[in-house]
Amino acid sequence: MSNNKYKVLVVEDDQSVASMIQTILETNGYQVLTAQRCQQGILMMTSHVPDLVLLDLGLPDMDGEEFIRVTRCSSAIPIIVLSARSEEADKVSALDLGANDYITKPFGTAELLARVRASLRTNRMNVLSSVPNSVFELDDLIIDYDRRQVSVAGRVVHLTQTEFNILSFLSQHVGKVMTYSVIIRAIWGAMDDGSVKKLQVNMANIRKKLGCIPGENRYIINELGVGYRMPDRND
Ligand code: CA
Repeated sequence: MSNNKYKVLVVEDDQSVASMIQTILETNGYQVLTAQRCQQGILMMTSHVPDLVLLDLGLPDMDGEEFIRVTRCSSAIPIIVLSARSEEADKVSALDLGANDYITKPFGTAELLARVRASLRTNRMNVLSSVPNSVFELDDLIIDYDRRQVSVAGRVVHLTQTEFNILSFLSQHVGKVMTYSVIIRAIWGAMDDGSVKKLQVNMANIRKKLGCIPGENRYIINELGVGYRMPDRND
């Protein structure tokens, strides 16, 4: 019944690390695919459609960050970065590009399995919550993803395409702080000098259209200097 197994793509050029991961995962019921090079991994994303990626950053042909960049253009698949680089900056940069989690080598079997399970679980919840009912609700704010329509207390709010995309993106990550660069890359694909300003202008318009008074954190919380977060029900 291998079809029911989660398929994990391991992109790692170090043969001993790759086969160790493969053994751990296969022993625990996962199906494992391996790629030694970044480009090969990118190709396998479309040919094999895995459920999760374990990605080494130091690859012989390209930096693993390139894999995240390319993959995030078309897929929300969980990506866990595996790397010997322990510097904070590398973690932030991989997470900013859209990696879901980060494991520093060397790591233990239990840690690897726990993080794989957690990433698959989060992703599954996201998929489940967005498929059967494609409507998001937060107090009196309703976002209908299929009809691309937003309303507050029954009143339709007219957003531009970009404003709708930003609001939807935040709502799909409710409760989590989305940094400026994560939002910018998700909405516009790339970041330049004017991007943060552009995002802030769009955000101000969204708030105004939703009827928020200046400084009010009703639907969108401004995490100053970092990004934005949509409050979950417990906020
Ligand atoms: Ca490597």
